[in-house]
Amino acid sequence: MKIGIDIGGSHIGIGLIDEKGIIVDKEEKYIVNDSQNNSQKEIKKDNLKKELEDFLIKKINQYKEKNKIENIGMAIPGTVNKTTIIRAVNLGLENYNIAEKIEEKTNIKVHLRNDAKCSALAELKYGNLKGYENGLFLCIGTGIGGAIVYNGKVLESKNVPGYEFSHMIIQKNGIQCNCGKRGCFEAYSSIKRLKEHIANEFGLNNLDNQFIKEFIIKNQNDIRLKYFISQYIENLAIGISNLINIFEPEVIVFGGGFVDYSDILIEPLKKQILTTNLLFNKRNDIILKLAKLGNDAGIIGASLNDKTPIFNE
Ligand SMILES: [Zn+2]
Repeated sequence: MKIGIDIGGSHIGIGLIDEKGIIVDKEEKYIVNDSQNNSQKEIKKDNLKKELEDFLIKKINQYKEKNKIENIGMAIPGTVNKTTIIRAVNLGLENYNIAEKIEEKTNIKVHLRNDAKCSALAELKYGNLKGYENGLFLCIGTGIGGAIVYNGKVLESKNVPGYEFSHMIIQKNGIQCNCGKRGCFEAYSSIKRLKEHIANEFGLNNLDNQFIKEFIIKNQNDIRLKYFISQYIENLAIGISNLINIFEPEVIVFGGGFVDYSDILIEPLKKQILTTNLLFNKRNDIILKLAKLGNDAGIIGASLNDKTPIFNE
C-alpha cells in the first residue's frame, strides 16, 4: 500500500492507495489558511504547520497499524524539492521541511512533488492524458498549476519543478499576484479570481463553487456579468494559447475548481482560442478534456513512486 497526500490552498486530502492506483480509504480536512493577509503572519503560519502535521501524522500512523506502507508522497501547490516546501505562495509557506517532521513521527520516508505534476502523472497513468504523447495539464483553482507531458513523460526541471505557467506575465504592470510579481496568468485566470471578482461586483458573500455557478446561470443575461465572464475567458485564452504555441499539445486536460464551471466556460474558451488571432499554427480543433480522476488526481499522483519516470530518467 501507498499513501498519497494532497495539500491544497484550503484543504488537505490523504488516501491509502493499492497497487492498482485505487484509493481504498480517504480522509479530507478543511484548513484555515489566512496566513496571507494577516498581521500575525508568523503565528498563523506556525498554526497551519501544526495543523498539517498533527492531522497527517495521526492518519499515517492509523494506516500504518493495519497496512504495510511502502511509500508516502505529498502533492504541494508550489515549489518543492524532495523534502522541503521551498515556496508555496498560496499557502504562505516557505522553506518548510515537512517531510522530516512527518518522518520523525512515523518512520516512513516521505517525498514531495509539485501538485500539478502529481496530478498530471496520475492522469497520464490512469486518466485522460493516457495514450497521448504530448499534452498539457492545467489545474485551475485557487491558483493555476501546470504540467507538460512530452514524449509520454511529465517534464520537471532539475532543482525545482519548473514549468510554472501560472506566473508567466500576460499583462504588463498588471494586477498584483501572490508571488510578488504583477500581471501573472494566475492573477487573472484562477477560479478564485473569477469568483472573487463576481462576488465583489454583485455583493455576494458566498464563494462556494456551486453557489457562484448558479448565480452565473441565473443571471446569464446580465450585461455586467457577461462582460466579466468574457474578460475572464479572454485572459484564460491568452495564457493557454501561449502554452499551445510553445508546446503544441495534442490534448489539454483541466483539473481543479474549473471543472465545476466547465459547462459554462469550456465552449466559449475553445471558441476564443480557435477563432481569435491567438494561435501561431492555426488549428480547426483542439481537444479539451476534464481530469478523469477529479480531485483524487493529486492524492493518486503523489503516491506514485519517487522513481516514476520523469524527464531524463
Ligand atoms: Zn505570480
